[in-house]
Amino acid sequence: MSALKEFSKQLDNTRIEQAINDAENLTSGEIRVVLQAGKVEDPVQRAEKEFARLKMQETAERNGVLFFVAPDAQKFAVFGDQGIHQKCPESFWAEVAAAMEQHFRAGDPTQALVEGITRAGTLLATEFPREHDDRDELSNEVVNRPADDSLPKGCGSRNQVMS
Ligand code: CA
Ligand code: CA
Repeated sequence: MSALKEFSKQLDNTRIEQAINDAENLTSGEIRVVLQAGKVEDPVQRAEKEFARLKMQETAERNGVLFFVAPDAQKFAVFGDQGIHQKCPESFWAEVAAAMEQHFRAGDPTQALVEGITRAGTLLATEFPREHDDRDELSNEVVNRPADDSLPKGCGSRNQVMS
């Protein structure tokens, strides 16, 4: 059994998706979670690729946040769009990551994600309050990526990478 499968079994997707839903009830920001199996060298780079793959840069206010978790590699990254970088200090994301790491170490990945999502949601609610006509621009569903499926394959070429 792969580590992702074991990890996924421990993960309570319903709770994670509920946390995203709760956070998005207070902000126009859009939060997503990707679980990546297999080797990951650079989680930030991979998070950036997933961000583009999921078209997360297409939100109106450029305020999408991706939580990228690679359980086999024991790495994770939080990637926010440019609208967020203009408003949030790096120290904020360092705090979010530190809080999440504690829960990962304690063997509770669901709580790690719920905590990260809740903290990000609180900040987003201040900077990007939800408007009455808000719509769900990006699905709240957790995305599972198998190993070796980290890059989009286009037009039959295995090496083609979308930029
Ligand atoms: Ca929304
Ligand atoms: Ca959403």
